Amino acid sequence: MLYLIDAVGTCNLRCPSCPVGNMSDSFIDAPRPKGFMEPEKFKRIIDKILREEKNKFRVALYNWGEALLHPKISELTDYLAQKNISFDISTNLNVDCDLWEIIKSNPTLFRVSISGGYQTTYQKSHKGGDINLVLSNLYRLRYLLDRANGLNKKITTNIQVYYHLYRDNCDDDIARVYNLCAELGFSFTQGVAFLMPLEKIIYGLVPGEKFSPQDQETLDRMYIPLEAQRVLGKLGKSQRCVLKDAQTVINYDGSVPTCCAVFDPAFFIADDFLENDLEHLKELKEKSPICSPCMENGLHDVAIQNPISIWNTILREEQAKIPTKYISNLLTAPALSINSHHKTDGTTSS
Ligand code: SF4
Repeated sequence: MLYLIDAVGTCNLRCPSCPVGNMSDSFIDAPRPKGFMEPEKFKRIIDKILREEKNKFRVALYNWGEALLHPKISELTDYLAQKNISFDISTNLNVDCDLWEIIKSNPTLFRVSISGGYQTTYQKSHKGGDINLVLSNLYRLRYLLDRANGLNKKITTNIQVYYHLYRDNCDDDIARVYNLCAELGFSFTQGVAFLMPLEKIIYGLVPGEKFSPQDQETLDRMYIPLEAQRVLGKLGKSQRCVLKDAQTVINYDGSVPTCCAVFDPAFFIADDFLENDLEHLKELKEKSPICSPCMENGLHDVAIQNPISIWNTILREEQAKIPTKYISNLLTAPALSINSHHKTDGTTSS
């Protein structure tokens, strides 16, 4: 089981593919709460999981919020380390904080979300972000890991750069990030960007329902358009939902959404994780009203890009058509290969 604890209920960026950047309060039923999780509350949540969870579990310190904005983040990571709990962090790395304070707790995975190697491209999808700050922090992480090793501190963190693939960021941008990962010894992984949250896609299924101009612009940059995602959803149709069965999300204030893919408070299943035992939360998840339309349309498969082999095939066909400089491989190494259809003079080979 994965417990996603959104320690911070907001973000410093306004990415148009993310609900923090595309769900204005007028779009949703009630304003979403914003704030930082109190360390005492965090510790009580962890203690409760330790008491009640019967299966192996790990913690992810993120969902829609930016965990590294938390002024006491190291108090949270220290507590996880003290309890010997494996935990992951995901960040946009547009932060000017003491990264050593987090690294010293030895996260299992430290994921950095990136969507471009140069500012012109990066700021389209990481709106409000600065790629130079991100890249300088990646260098700093390398320095901190080397220093830790020199001091014989056993830091085994996997620093992973997660590159969000758009139609216009798979040329020099992706190469810059890919090469930097190789230089710094970090892992590079990539995934097809898509519009979230889930309820926005469900509302979008209603005939005549319009997306905002910003949503439309974001959808136009995507490799797999919404119509194709719907077809893929119909193909998948897994009987169970992995996000429901294998994850529990806890917001900074303790409230519990149906799953990591929803944002609107209308789809929260409980006001306080601490007041509900895990069995009861499971029952509440089963009754969530968003799951029926989601599963009927196969969006639970779309949310995890299942089956990944088909997503990968469509992605590669599109990249060959554009043609981008590089072709992505989501399944096996190497992650990138040169696109033989791409000509340096900008023309396409036939
Ligand atoms: S069925 Fe859909 S809404 Fe329900 S938990 Fe799964 S992904 Fe989330």
